Order: sequence, then C-alpha cells, then structure tokens
Amino acid sequence: MIDTGRNAALAGRPEGLEQLRELVESAFGALHDASLKRGGPVAPGGPQAAVAAVRRILDGDDFLADRPSARRVTDLFDAYAHWAADLTHPSAVSRMQCAPTAAAAAAELLAAVLNQSLHSWESGPFALELERRLIGEMASWVGFGEQASGTLTPGGSISNLMGLLLSRDHALRSVGGHGPGEVSQSGLLGLGVRPLILCSAAAHFSIARAAGFLGLGRDSVIIVPVDDRGRMIPHEARRILDGLAPDEVPVALVATAGTTDHGSFDPLPELAAIAADRGIWLHVDAAYGIGALFSPTLAPLLDGLDRADSIAFDLHKFGWTPASSSVLLVRDEQHLRCLSQQAVYLNPTDDEAAGFTALLGTSMQTTRRSDAFKIAASLLTLGREGMGAWVDACHGQARYAAARIAAGTDLDLVAEPLLSTVIFRCRPPAGAAPAADASAWNSVWNAAVRRKLMADGRALLARTKVPGPDGEPQVHLKLVFLNPTTTEDDIDGLLADIAAVARELATTAPGADGVGSGHSD
Ligand SMILES: *Cc1c(COP(=O)(O)O)cnc(C)c1O
Repeated sequence: MIDTGRNAALAGRPEGLEQLRELVESAFGALHDASLKRGGPVAPGGPQAAVAAVRRILDGDDFLADRPSARRVTDLFDAYAHWAADLTHPSAVSRMQCAPTAAAAAAELLAAVLNQSLHSWESGPFALELERRLIGEMASWVGFGEQASGTLTPGGSISNLMGLLLSRDHALRSVGGHGPGEVSQSGLLGLGVRPLILCSAAAHFSIARAAGFLGLGRDSVIIVPVDDRGRMIPHEARRILDGLAPDEVPVALVATAGTTDHGSFDPLPELAAIAADRGIWLHVDAAYGIGALFSPTLAPLLDGLDRADSIAFDLHKFGWTPASSSVLLVRDEQHLRCLSQQAVYLNPTDDEAAGFTALLGTSMQTTRRSDAFKIAASLLTLGREGMGAWVDACHGQARYAAARIAAGTDLDLVAEPLLSTVIFRCRPPAGAAPAADASAWNSVWNAAVRRKLMADGRALLARTKVPGPDGEPQVHLKLVFLNPTTTEDDIDGLLADIAAVARELATTAPGADGVGSGHSD
C-alpha cells in the first residue's frame, strides 16, 4: 500500500509547509543548476530534445501507476528548469514575456498555497478587496474617474474579448426593438442589422477572433488602413464610417496603443474624437503599450487614453509580473452589467445586501485566481519610478540595438524603434542569393537563421513579415526588449551571434541543414 501521507501533504498544513520548504529548497537548486548548465537562453537540441526530456520524466505507459515519490517531483523540477526558456537571459528577446520580479514570484507561491478565489466572498475576502482597490488605482493611472471599474483577466486576448463583448451589448441594446441588455439574453438572431468592428491592419489577431467568438463573425471586422509605421489613419476611419449602409452598425472602434510589431500607437485623440462624434465605443488595446504610461518621456504616446470606453492592458509584458496579469478597465461600471450574475449558491442578494459581495459579476470566469496579489507585490517593490526606469531601460536597449544594426553591414534595419521592439533582417552576402528569386531566398534564409539560433540554444528571436523593397511581405526578424538588466555589451554579442549564424547558413543552402523547410510563411 502506498503511504500517500508521506509523499503528499496539503501545502498549507504544518507538515505541508515543512514539505514545501524542502521542495522550494530543491527548486532553488534546480534553478541555480539550470542557469549554470544551460549556457544560453534555452537548452540546445530543439524540439526532439524537449520531447525526449519530457519522456524521461513521465516515463512508462502509465506514469500514474508507478510508485509516487518526492524524488520524482524534484526530477520534474530539474527538467522543467533545465528546459525552460530563460527569460532573464539577454539573448531571450523573442516574446513579450517578461522575467518577473522576485516579489511577484514570491506572491505567486503564497497565492498557490492559499488558493484564494474571487467568485464568492468567503472564497477570498482579502483578495477581493485587494482587486477592488487595485482596479481603482489602475483606473486613476489611465485618467478614468470614480465611475470606472474593471477586472483582471487571463490575458490581453481575453481583455480584448471582454471589451468587445461590452461594446457589442452596449451598441445593440436599442437596436431591432430589443429592450435593455437583451443581446446577452436573446442573442443576435433577428436583429436585422450588421454589427461591425473597426480596427487597423496592425491590430492584434485577438480582435478578429473575438468578433468570431461574439457571434459577429470575423467578417464583421473592417480593416482601416495604416501609415508606414502601422498607425491607423484617422481620415480613413472617418471615410469608412461615412460609407456605411443604413443597416450597418459600428459597435466599436478599436485603437491599438503599442502594436505587436512596431510598437506603434494609433492616434488616440483623433480616434477618440471620431468615436465621440459618432457615438461609437472606443476600445484601446494597450496590452503592450501600457508600459509607456510609467515613463515620463514615453507617456505622451498615450495621450487621449482617458477618452476610451474600455482599455485592455497586460502587466505580464511591461509590468514584470508572471502571467497571467491582464486588465480590462471600463470608464463606466454600468457597462459591466451584461456580466452581472446572481447565483443562489454563490452571491445571494441578502448576503450581498449585508456586504458579503464578490466579483462574480465583473468576470467571464467563476473560480478565479487572485492576480491582483502578485501585481500589488511587484508594484510595492518597484514603485512608479522604478517601473518607469525599467521601461526606459528597455526602450534605450531597442534604440541602441537599432543604432548598431544601422551602423553595421550584416543586418538591415527596418525602422527606428518606437517602444522596445526592433525589426530588421540579415543582409545576404554578395552573390549568396540567386538573382532570379532573391526575395524568397532572403525570407527562407532569415527564417532558418532564427530556427538555428533556437535549436543551438544561442538566442531566441521573434519573426514577422513586413514589406520588403518590392512592397511584398517578407520574413523579418524582431527583437523584443523587456529585460531591464541587459547591457550594451549583451546586445553587441547578440547581434554578432545573429550575423555569424547568418553567414554560416548563407554558404549552405538555407533549409538544408534540418532547421529550415525550404519555404516560409
Ligand atoms: C500581446 C498582445 C495581445 C495579447 O495579449 P495576451 O496577454 O498574450 O493574450 C493583444 N494585443 C496586443 C497589442 C499585444 O501585444
């Protein structure tokens, strides 16, 4: 018989805390060893090596049947740490995924032990009040008033979905003879109008997905043209609105503050004026761009943010808290009413009248973890100035990298960075690319350079497509700076690594070495 009492204890009990202390001790050992052994932002070997590593830990046909042991858990820790992408490594510049502060990480551990939830009062009394207070605080950051409200969500994609859900119900409330709030109740069938969402070509894909989820359909998204830096052109938005048929109802104008590629900011004051003129909901996707708020020099990029009806932003990008740390704010708490939910077993009205209120009615979730806790912990150690200094540091790194790329001969810079991303690509050595098909060759080659750097564990870069000299979209590489401790020497080393691998692959056929497929998209 298995003595589970010896292997598994509940974390919050005295014997569990003792076990937790030992496990955390060994986790620290794993983290320390991993960073010494790895030597790069990720262990070398690529996908096959990761598959084999998981197989070694969860071995056998039925790993649950094997004898449970603490040893198996610490082996899992070792492997997880060893195979993790090291977000603190200066050459981990691929994703908008930050390394969290120590305070936030400690809060996550405590949050896991206590496992509070926000869906009923007794599921987390302090966590509830903390989220309420933090939402109020964040509303004041963006210039919202006393009427503002909001919620923490599992990510920018969900914050966008929620913002558009609220806009849909707001815009369609009085359409087609529906009474107040009836879209959530009776659905979209028989409305007799075509709801539309306007956003730019540089908007995040979660906007179109949200339109699909909300029953409006991806086809309801009208793309407003952008300028050469990916910023929505206001008069194009106006032109599209002027041309709508009588049965077309714009439910939201979506502005992006900090686009995923260029970090561009749509002109919020102009778009807010258009939205106000026409009575259209303005949703601002500031998932990435919120960082500018903390930097005195970059903050003007967010002028006009206070005129939004809803704002989505992530603190698991700029913010240095672990995922998920995302926020949806609304200017007027009334707009959350389509989420309101009275459940006889969770928040009965007499309990609520007596002050035992919860946050069930501000969220799409029921059981919901306390993300406010780690965010508060992180903010308390960093403070506003600390956040601003870190954002400025990342912005400075992007500018430095761009200047080095522009000054060298191996890489071609696309544009000056606006926030903390740099888009560029490797420049083919003379004669490397076949004259007939130079653009396609260049795309395949750049894609292969990125994969080789990943597979070798040397650097994690992002990629995207932007128009090349012929105007056709071509594969480019992207650096995303979110690590305030990265130095100029680190960046020089990273750029040298990229150039070295690019040269190496230019002499073999790109894609022929197992890291490329011969085509790219
Ligand atoms: C990252 C990002 C998102 C998606 O946020 P997640 O937290 O990854 O779901 C949405 N919009 C923009 C502009 C982003 O940069």
